[in-house]
Amino acid sequence: MSRYFSDKYKKLVPYVPGEQPKDRRYIKLNTNESPFPPSPLAQEMARRAADGLNLYSDPRCRDLVKAAAEHFGIDKDEILFTNGSDEILNFAFMAFCDADHPAVFPDITYGFYPVFADINSVPYETVPLNDDFTIDVEAFIGVDRTVFIANPNAPTGLALPLADIERIVASNPGNVVVIDEAYVDFGGESAVELIHKYDNLLVTQTFSKSRSMAGARLGFGIGCKELISDLNAVKYSINPYNVNSVTAAAGIGSFKDDEYFKSCCKAVSDTREWTADSLRALGFTVLDSKANFVFASSPEIGGKELYSRLRERGVLVRHFDAPRIREYNRITIGSPEQMRALIGTIKTILEDIR
Ligand code: PMP
Repeated sequence: MSRYFSDKYKKLVPYVPGEQPKDRRYIKLNTNESPFPPSPLAQEMARRAADGLNLYSDPRCRDLVKAAAEHFGIDKDEILFTNGSDEILNFAFMAFCDADHPAVFPDITYGFYPVFADINSVPYETVPLNDDFTIDVEAFIGVDRTVFIANPNAPTGLALPLADIERIVASNPGNVVVIDEAYVDFGGESAVELIHKYDNLLVTQTFSKSRSMAGARLGFGIGCKELISDLNAVKYSINPYNVNSVTAAAGIGSFKDDEYFKSCCKAVSDTREWTADSLRALGFTVLDSKANFVFASSPEIGGKELYSRLRERGVLVRHFDAPRIREYNRITIGSPEQMRALIGTIKTILEDIR
């Protein structure tokens, strides 16, 4: 740390992204990326947009917004695109939280929420997950704070029914409720349809998982036009050109290639069920995931030990050294071949220790 670093950031504990190692080729199942390339149309549109990189991108992302509005059946002023959904989540902490509107989220959830709260000096509380790792819905009813809920949740993969989300939104009219749907396309129920009924609901989604575009950095928020206008005030005060033109063009291609999108989501969901069944057959406890990962623990080997042994054998998964979840690993759903290799490697590891 330099002696110039502002006091306000000295205690900051930054988010730790999953490893992106380059030392060897891994079967990479640690950061919930898609095993598939982006849609061919998305790639083609990105290539064409590269010709125009001498110009600034459109700060209003008009063509992308038009494609999205058609896709979701919403108005153009009900959506805002950002540099990954991390950016819209940060904007939401900036726009809708303060000492009078502190944040609240589950204790086990996306690890970036407390970091966004801290960097924006937002006070926050966490609500413990139930013993079965489900979200304690009742604790969020009328909680009178700005709510952040990932649905499906990470790293558990468990989803709440839309009716529970609606109860939380309806019971907190004095605060914004942010539903982070990064993983919704793999089997969850989206709350987007509720934005016309509730002016305090912001739904965020990403192109990083189901649309195979993690490297492009594209996310968005959907809410009533007043919420989107507030978020735009924040965006235009930080970086009007937050979405680059190559990424915006790829995003349009992705929306227009709906069949490709649907077939990728189905392939991942099918492979997830095969993986969960295979792990259960090996004695694992596997939560009922609706995301593109499974959260699993074995009675025979500790979470960290399994993570390390898989890593030695060239398979990367994500281990969180945190209370209640350290016996688990979060395993991204890759291609069927990658998952067969994972299961084969786990069998060898279990045989070695038996
Ligand atoms: N929300 C959740 C729950 C996530 O797991 C992630 C991925 N790390 C994100 C949001 C952000 O993803 P991105 O910025 O790539 O859209």
